[in-house]
Amino acid sequence: MAIWLKKAVSGDVRKEDDRKVRDAVEAILADIEQRGDEAVRAFSIRFDGWDRPDYRLSDSEIDQCIDSLDRQAIQDIEFAQKQVRNFAEEQRGAIRDIEVETVPGVVLGHKNIPVDAAGCYVPGGKYPLLASAHMSVITAKVAGVGRVVTCAPPFEGKPAPAIVAAQAMAGADEIYALGGVQAIGAMALGTQAIGSVNMLVGPGNAFVAEAKRQLYGRVGIDLFAGPTETMVIADETVDGEMCATDLLGQAEHGPDSPAIFITDSEKLARDTLSEVERLLEILPTRNIACQAWDRYGEVIVCEDHADMLRVADHYANEHVQVMTSDDEYFLRNMRNYGALFIGPRTNVAYGDKVIGTNHTLPTRKAARYTGGLWVGKFLKTCTYQKVLTDEASALMGEYCSRLCALEGFAGHGEQANVRVRRYGGRNIPY
Ligand code: NAD
Repeated sequence: MAIWLKKAVSGDVRKEDDRKVRDAVEAILADIEQRGDEAVRAFSIRFDGWDRPDYRLSDSEIDQCIDSLDRQAIQDIEFAQKQVRNFAEEQRGAIRDIEVETVPGVVLGHKNIPVDAAGCYVPGGKYPLLASAHMSVITAKVAGVGRVVTCAPPFEGKPAPAIVAAQAMAGADEIYALGGVQAIGAMALGTQAIGSVNMLVGPGNAFVAEAKRQLYGRVGIDLFAGPTETMVIADETVDGEMCATDLLGQAEHGPDSPAIFITDSEKLARDTLSEVERLLEILPTRNIACQAWDRYGEVIVCEDHADMLRVADHYANEHVQVMTSDDEYFLRNMRNYGALFIGPRTNVAYGDKVIGTNHTLPTRKAARYTGGLWVGKFLKTCTYQKVLTDEASALMGEYCSRLCALEGFAGHGEQANVRVRRYGGRNIPY
């Protein structure tokens, strides 16, 4: 039986927060739909204090951003982008089109077709999160998306040079300095300034994630990738400092970022709690991390590895760091997570920034039904069929005709019957 040494705020508090976000986003999207660019501009001024008649950055503005970075920064971005591209290309290579003859004369296949245009959101309200540019723009390009549009909010009053550089170096076709719901709404609905896309991808805060959720259906979305969450699963093979560092490393994302600690050692749980308190005194981002930990931090003591696995699967957390005497057990058996970070030598920050796996990952238990962003999300797996012989058509037609009769679908049945009559079948109900 698991015991909670620290619990998050109640679900009712979250529900109330969710309702406010939902209502605000609904109103903003309705206004953008009605007034287009005029509304986009008004919301940009209201939420980001940012105004320009055209949000698209020119080639010279993009070059200026790239030139303003030092050589090391450019090389670091190049290194990270190379890792993301390499892994995305490997994943693309593993996806294949198929064509098989399932019954003599019956050929079925599928093709993976990239969407025509994708909108990649790069978050940048609290931090200029340039890594998100690699994660979505490069992945879209490797998938074969023709037109890749990307938006990021201004940071400290102007486009963040490192984000713009990363967006351009990743191969974006259009770069806009626009944030939040107004960016998501403009890309999805289309305005005079920004042509609409077929699919929205990328992470963001609660407003951004909710805007994507509300627009789903009118456009595709990658997944629900809202405020970051992290979970550390550890036993006494590591110490409290390591566990506390990994919890706070992600709690600094925002005051709504949960950090969950699961262990089978009460001693490690208590050591980690006091290490969290110590680190919160000195972490430069403690203002944010402290709020996140107070509201959404949890410490859970379980009986053994199997109990830890059961609790962890129930949470279906975005990032799961595993540091135990049997890490492979968790890799083999865990079923609900956005990404796993196996063993103490790696950590979530490597995945977030540089190692090459995608950092756009499911939150709020979306890991029960999806993994993170990857090339496959940009591809539509579309099937086709061919029937090559009269015999095969008559055979399928006879089965089809009888099945249609069972369902009462006369029109469907006639589609089969006309072929059975022409191609030599007999055993049809009418
Ligand atoms: P952001 O770009 O997501 O959001 C900033 C925008 O929010 C602003 O441009 C503004 O227009 C809008 N906004 C702010 N207050 C608003 C309000 N009251 N009403 C309407 N709109 C409002 O940047 P951020 O805020 O720094 O958040 C980034 C988020 O991305 C964090 O929560 C982080 O945890 C998350 N993230 C998630 C993943 C993932 O894969 N799940 C990965 C990286 C980051």
